[in-house]
Amino acid sequence: MPTTRNIDTTCVQSGYQPENGEPRCMPIIQSTTFKYLSSAQMARLFDLSEAGYFYTRLQNPTNDLAAAKICELEGGAAAMLTASGQAASFFALFNICSAGDHIVSSSAIYGGTYNLIAVTMKRMGISCTFVHPDASAAELDAAFQPNTKALFAESLANPAMIVLDFEKFAAAARTHGVPLIVDNTFPTPVNCRPFEFGVDIVTHSTTKYMDGHATCVGGAIVDSGNFDWQAHADKYPSLTAPDDSYHGVIYTRDFGKGAYITKAVVQLMRDLGATPAPMNSFMLATHLETLALRMKRHCENAQAVAEFLTQSANVTWVSYPGLPDNPYHELARKYMPNGTCGVISFGICGGRDNASKFMDNLKLCAIATHVADAKTCVLHPAGTTHRQMTDEQLEEAGVGPDLIRLSVGIENAEDIIADIEQALEQLS
Ligand SMILES: *Cc1c(COP(=O)(O)O)cnc(C)c1O
Repeated sequence: MPTTRNIDTTCVQSGYQPENGEPRCMPIIQSTTFKYLSSAQMARLFDLSEAGYFYTRLQNPTNDLAAAKICELEGGAAAMLTASGQAASFFALFNICSAGDHIVSSSAIYGGTYNLIAVTMKRMGISCTFVHPDASAAELDAAFQPNTKALFAESLANPAMIVLDFEKFAAAARTHGVPLIVDNTFPTPVNCRPFEFGVDIVTHSTTKYMDGHATCVGGAIVDSGNFDWQAHADKYPSLTAPDDSYHGVIYTRDFGKGAYITKAVVQLMRDLGATPAPMNSFMLATHLETLALRMKRHCENAQAVAEFLTQSANVTWVSYPGLPDNPYHELARKYMPNGTCGVISFGICGGRDNASKFMDNLKLCAIATHVADAKTCVLHPAGTTHRQMTDEQLEEAGVGPDLIRLSVGIENAEDIIADIEQALEQLS
C-alpha cells in the first residue's frame, strides 16, 4: 500500500482486503480452533517453522486483520491485539524485561499503568524509576541504569494532558540503547505518528477513541521494526538467542522486523492468554473506519468547549493543549498539528461541593468513569477514581478536589456548551 495515502483514507481502506467474490466486510472467525489434514503440518505450526492458525489464544484471523489495520495506521512493521490496554502495556514491557531488570518511565501516565509498573511488575522483580516528562535531558539521563531495558511514556498523558517531548525521550533511549515505548491512546495515529519522532514501539488502549463508542475493552501493540535488537544482543538475549520452547527458534534471525511481536504472541499470549474476542476485533475494525472523522470532531468540539469554559465566571482554570496559553501548546503544535483529543480538565469554583452540584445539574453530559467515546461524559476524580486520597495527596497527584475531567463527544458543540452553561449558571 502506498505510504503517501492520507490517514483518513487509511482508516477506511486498511486491513482486510477481500478477493473476488469474498464478503465486503471482514468475516468474524468465531472459532477457538482450526482443522488440519496432516499431523506433520500441525507439528510444523507448533515449531513455528510454518505459519498458520491453530488455536485462537495465540492467533485468530479476525484479530489479526484488526491488528493489521492498526499497524498500517501507525506505519508499523508488525502488530498484535490484546484483550485490554492494560495487557498491551504489560506485554510490551514484559516481552523484553525479566526479574532483575529496570525500566525508566514518565511519571505522567494513566493511573492503571502506573500501578502496573510501580506495584505489580515490582513484585515480579522489575524495578522502575519514574521521571517527570518535563525533566531536563540530564535528569532523564540520570534515571538510567546498566540493567535498564526500556523507556516508557504517553504521547498525550491521561489525565494530565501533557504532550511528550518526543525528541528528548528518543534521544535518551538512543543514548542508552533501549527502545522507546509510547502509549499513543489519547491522540491516536490520526493526530500523532510516534514512529516519525523516533519511537520504537507503540501501545494502545483501543477501548478509548479507536473503539470510540464505549463498546469493547481492548489493546494493541505495534512495532516499528526499527530497534536493532541484534546491536544490543547482550541486553535482549530472549530475542537474539535460541528459544528452547520452540526448538531453538531465534526471533531476530527467523522473523526479522516481526521478531518482537512474534515473541510476544508465541510466548506471552501462549502463557498469559490476554486474547481479544473475534467479535470485539470486528467491532474495533469497523469503528476504526470513522476514526479520522471522529477525532476531527472531538478536537473541534473540545476546542469550542475549552474556549467557552475560559470565559465562565464559575471556572477557575482550564487545561487543554489547544488553548494558546497552555504550557504544552507549542509541543502540541509540533507533534500533533491537527489537534490532540477531546479531553479537557478544568477547575470549578467552590471546589468539591460545587463539583458534585455541577455534575448533577448536567442533562446531556453523562456522569461516567470513561473517556474518549462519542458521547460527552464527565468525571470528578476526587469524588470517584481518587476518592481514597486526602486533599493534600490530591494536589500532589495533580488532581485537586476542584478538578473536573470532561470528555467531549461528537454531538453538536452548541448543545454541549448549552448543557454546561445551564449547569454552571445554577451554581451562582
Ligand atoms: C484506559 C487507558 C489504559 C488502559 O486501558 P484498558 O483498555 O482500560 O485496559 C492505558 N493507557 C491509557 C492512556 C488509557 O487511557
